[in-house]
Amino acid sequence: MSIKIDENKCIGCSSCVEVCPGNLIKLHTIQGTQNEKKVAYIKHERDCWGCTSCVKECPKKAISFFLGADIGGKGSTMTVENTKDNAIWTINKYDGSTFQISINKKESNKY
Ligand code: SF4
Ligand code: SF4
Repeated sequence: MSIKIDENKCIGCSSCVEVCPGNLIKLHTIQGTQNEKKVAYIKHERDCWGCTSCVKECPKKAISFFLGADIGGKGSTMTVENTKDNAIWTINKYDGSTFQISINKKESNKY
């Protein structure tokens, strides 16, 4: 499992760097459309164990999480957007279709 970071969406806030429990994400400088800018990249991709902390923390939906073939995802990706009360997960399926799951954050630990 791994993630993919969209350099065009990333604003270099470093939230993902701070939350990754494996210290796998770093910032580097690239040439943007006008100026140089800092963006995040995953340095040790193979060590990612898919905790999704970075995906949930990113304020710009710049991080996609790959749903590998081993769990039926066949390369589909997920992003998450946080509103005040909900986490809205968007699944971009391998066939081009999308669907969303909205989870009330206050209810997410109930079962
Ligand atoms: S999914 Fe978890 S382990 Fe993988 S890069 Fe993101 S925070 Fe780190
Ligand atoms: S949390 Fe998102 S916007 Fe912030 S540095 Fe990481 S990828 Fe970029």
